[in-house]
Amino acid sequence: MSTARMRKIPMLDLRAQYGSLASEILLAVKNVLESQQLILGPEVKELEREIAVYCHCAYAVGCASGSDALLLPLMAFEIGPGDEVVTSPFTFFATVGSIVRLGATPVFVDIEAQTFNMNVAQLASVVTERTKAIMPVHLFGQCVEMDTVEQVARRIGAVVIEDAAQAIGAEYKGKRAGSLGDVAAFSFYPSKNLGGAGDAGMMTTNRADMEVRLRSLRAHGAEKKYYHDRVGVNSRLDSLQAAILRVKFQYLEGWAAARRANALRYEELFSEKGLVLDGLIVLPVELEGQTHVFNQYVIRVKRRDDLRRYLADNGIGTEIYYPVPMHLQACFEGIGYKQGDFSEAERAATEVLAIPIYPELGLEDQEYIVSAIARFYKG
Ligand SMILES: *Cc1c(COP(=O)(O)O)cnc(C)c1O
Repeated sequence: MSTARMRKIPMLDLRAQYGSLASEILLAVKNVLESQQLILGPEVKELEREIAVYCHCAYAVGCASGSDALLLPLMAFEIGPGDEVVTSPFTFFATVGSIVRLGATPVFVDIEAQTFNMNVAQLASVVTERTKAIMPVHLFGQCVEMDTVEQVARRIGAVVIEDAAQAIGAEYKGKRAGSLGDVAAFSFYPSKNLGGAGDAGMMTTNRADMEVRLRSLRAHGAEKKYYHDRVGVNSRLDSLQAAILRVKFQYLEGWAAARRANALRYEELFSEKGLVLDGLIVLPVELEGQTHVFNQYVIRVKRRDDLRRYLADNGIGTEIYYPVPMHLQACFEGIGYKQGDFSEAERAATEVLAIPIYPELGLEDQEYIVSAIARFYKG
């Protein structure tokens, strides 16, 4: 064992965040409860307005989760059996689940080694006349190369639905995630950069027609209560969640800045130890023209599972996003992909390790984490 004193560093410390905001959050909750406007209501309207402005969009529509924020736009574009949707095999399940639930077929392109995002150079070779949508996933908080996505989509007449669940505030050539396609999905799952006290989600768009449809679809397809134009779902946003999210939203920019500062500090600390030069670990990169918001800080490492165990023994929480690429998930076997089809995604699945990056993480925590990793490889 090490001579360093054992610390406890969780993968994510939401209690630290709550501790500093408790009185504001409790007051917001109290106000909603006293108003008894529990579903949608003024808090949801205000949050929608704030998120729309923040994401450089004309409209935002709240819903029950990030997963629904992906499903509802696909429904709004009437995507279903016989249609193909191109996306990344290296993502959270919801991206692909939303496509398959509607009877459409997911079509994958491999990822780039450097960013873990979809390799847009491969888009042109997989689109067909059946391609109705492209779903880029801004993984870990950095945007996909959207210029190419938009070019290909425009050429074939497909729509673009951004999975921006991990990327609120991320920028691509000065434009915010959420404003880079036809509709975008955001998640307020507690571990996202803006996290609620449970499930919640939001869709952003600059299209007035989509705003109307999405509002209708999240409320059983009724634009006017009890008069149903189409079959939607129950995916409303709770006022309690909206009120809590509005408190936290005021701190979002500061948290993103702290995450970015932590990422820079990791870079310095890892280079000091020589781990990068020795090829033992590969650090995440922020590409030219991008602002990465580091929802996750994901390194590539040798002997990943042993390292993860060693870090756990030293009190350090880590996570693997994601251990199984989507084309190899049991439930998608029928689609016909096999091992070897997307080698970069498959390699990433065996090498990635997310280490703590949350805003409250201190310098000493980071030094402790980097020292532990250096000790694992170099003794
Ligand atoms: C979190 C996440 C989702 C789903 O969001 P939920 O709010 O958990 O339903 C979708 N896509 C990606 C990439 C995510 O990280």
